[in-house]
Amino acid sequence: MKLIACTEGHSSKIEAFSLEMIAAARSIAQAGDEVVAFFAGRDAEGASASFGAADRLIVARATKSDVIPAETYALLLRDVITAESPGLVLVPYSANGLDVAADIAARTGWPLVSYVNEIKRHGESLTIVAQMYGGKILAECEMQLPAILMINPGAFAEAAPGAITAVSVQTIDADPALTSGKVKMVAIDVPDYADVDLTTAERIVCVGRGIGDEASIDLARNLATMLGAEIAGSRPVVDNGWLPKLRQVGKSGQKVKPKLYLALGVSGAPEHLEGMSQADLIIAVNTDPKAPIFNVAHYGATCDLFDLVANLSDRLRAGSGR
Ligand SMILES: Cc1cc2nc3c(=O)[nH]c(=O)nc-3n(C[C@H](O)[C@H](O)[C@H](O)COP(=O)(O)OP(=O)(O)OC[C@H]3O[C@@H](n4cnc5c(N)ncnc54)[C@H](O)[C@@H]3O)c2cc1C
Repeated sequence: MKLIACTEGHSSKIEAFSLEMIAAARSIAQAGDEVVAFFAGRDAEGASASFGAADRLIVARATKSDVIPAETYALLLRDVITAESPGLVLVPYSANGLDVAADIAARTGWPLVSYVNEIKRHGESLTIVAQMYGGKILAECEMQLPAILMINPGAFAEAAPGAITAVSVQTIDADPALTSGKVKMVAIDVPDYADVDLTTAERIVCVGRGIGDEASIDLARNLATMLGAEIAGSRPVVDNGWLPKLRQVGKSGQKVKPKLYLALGVSGAPEHLEGMSQADLIIAVNTDPKAPIFNVAHYGATCDLFDLVANLSDRLRAGSGR
């Protein structure tokens, strides 16, 4: 059986979750199976240098655009699926993957399970553990192959990066699909990082909706200053205008990898985890013991964040003599 691991990369940066897709496919591949990585984009060299954990790599090389719209990616993937007849297609739960998985499920008529955390294979069928309601419920479901799975970022440890042998790389031309699609990439708007670049921050204190209101963010900001950390927020915090957009972490915000990530009143929705689950040390504070943030946290406290922030700030102040 062939397992297709869909990967992504833009502007010479291979997305880390690409290696997670290959690892997920590897974890259920059996003797005689083939793990095929699929990449669409300009950086064919980056893909070849990274996806050595796959048995084969199919690169749809684009020369006309740095970013492949989901419509084009799906168009290219459809052809690959027709040519390869895989038993399983693994798509990352990314902005691109959301559209791509739905497209190929509709075209193939194969079952699609989203928000996947675990996969177990029994011959021609799978048992899947998937998140529902932002991760508050874990659903176990069974499905027959062929199938499509949309995998949560962080659910599988990254496969080791490394070069794939040249003979295992097959290149197709993505440019015709780029020009024939209805969606065209017009421009890439690179944010102005003059205020802050969370992607390089070593410590981050992130506030979620649990912070309650804009005024209370100052408590977390003071704590962040004492910790030498940057303040960040979940999407509702930014949507409410309590923090600027550049300080949002997650799917539609920044992807961060600090040494310390202190999450205060963040539930841990998959879209948030996508931006921070690779942090070296995650400490979560949430009154709800079932909050999904605790699934990725290395340490957690089920207490009121205001108690913890006040106590920790007092201790830091006492320690520094301030
Ligand atoms: C396409 C798409 C893109 C998205 N992109 C992003 C993104 O980039 N980033 C992002 O964050 N979200 C994103 N979201 C939204 C995401 O689905 C969640 O809605 C969001 O992450 C929830 O934010 P939150 O955890 O702050 O709020 P909530 O889910 O409301 O959680 C608040 C948490 O605070 C806890 N709490 C409340 N009071 C206290 C207290 N006093 N002390 C301690 N804990 C307390 C609660 O128990 C709860 O768990 C996206 C959604 C979609 C569909």
